[in-house]
Amino acid sequence: MTHLALVPPANPTPTGRATHPPSTRRSAGHQVQTYDASGTNPFRNAPLAAVRDGFHRPHGTRAGAARTRWSECPNTDHYRLNLDTGQLIKAYCKRLTCPSCIVPRAIGVGQAIALAEPSHMVTVTQLGNEWTTIHAGMRKFTARLRRLGTDAQFAYHVEPFANGLNSHAHLWWRGAAPDADTVSKATRAAGIGWHHMVSPAPDPTEHYRVPSHEYGLKLVLDDRPEDPSELWPGAQTYLAMNGNRLVHTTRGFWLDAAGSPCTLARAQSDARGHRRGQWVSVAA
Ligand SMILES: [Zn+2]
Repeated sequence: MTHLALVPPANPTPTGRATHPPSTRRSAGHQVQTYDASGTNPFRNAPLAAVRDGFHRPHGTRAGAARTRWSECPNTDHYRLNLDTGQLIKAYCKRLTCPSCIVPRAIGVGQAIALAEPSHMVTVTQLGNEWTTIHAGMRKFTARLRRLGTDAQFAYHVEPFANGLNSHAHLWWRGAAPDADTVSKATRAAGIGWHHMVSPAPDPTEHYRVPSHEYGLKLVLDDRPEDPSELWPGAQTYLAMNGNRLVHTTRGFWLDAAGSPCTLARAQSDARGHRRGQWVSVAA
């Protein structure tokens, strides 16, 4: 897993037009390139506390076993019965506001992203703090990428800086490798942060039966308490910054098991694979 750090730059001024030559460094086997159109490298000399608490932080530190389990949904009395195997499990309300159901839904999103096989992770910065602002910036960014001839598909998650200042988005990118100059032009046109990062997509996590790209979902999956009775602060912040969704995508990002464009629901189903037996809902 790639661990990076970033502190919000001190009021970058829109003076430098040329893209600053990328600085490169190696982390966990991945070469990460950072770009900053303002001519300063915001990653240089970042204080250790900012490294630890800022942009990225260690991911996947919770025990794998704990991360594959979640508590029963408190919002339904129904059960699901498998007519072929006799297995009986508690039904789920599937609401993102449910402290139980948000977990399997987030895992499902991560698995669907893995099925789409993104090649790169692009991180863009300084998107604002409100979803309306963030969404507008990402729409402009995507529109400008298209006008510049980029036809890549991507999914993205928005995360806050740990200090509460501004936000950044991780894009799971599939298509021709992202061109730094093109991405810089698109960030400038969108009025979002002038610096961005490009790296190969990190390896998917292997806590589940199938691969999952859940790096951008760490506020939901890593921050959760053992047996939460309500949505925890990280998940609340995540939903607020993401417009009450777990993920946003360009039009053709999701792929089914055959590699054809599909819906998120279909991608999640295909990622999980075949489920034996017929399930019916039964009352308690
Ligand atoms: Zn629920």
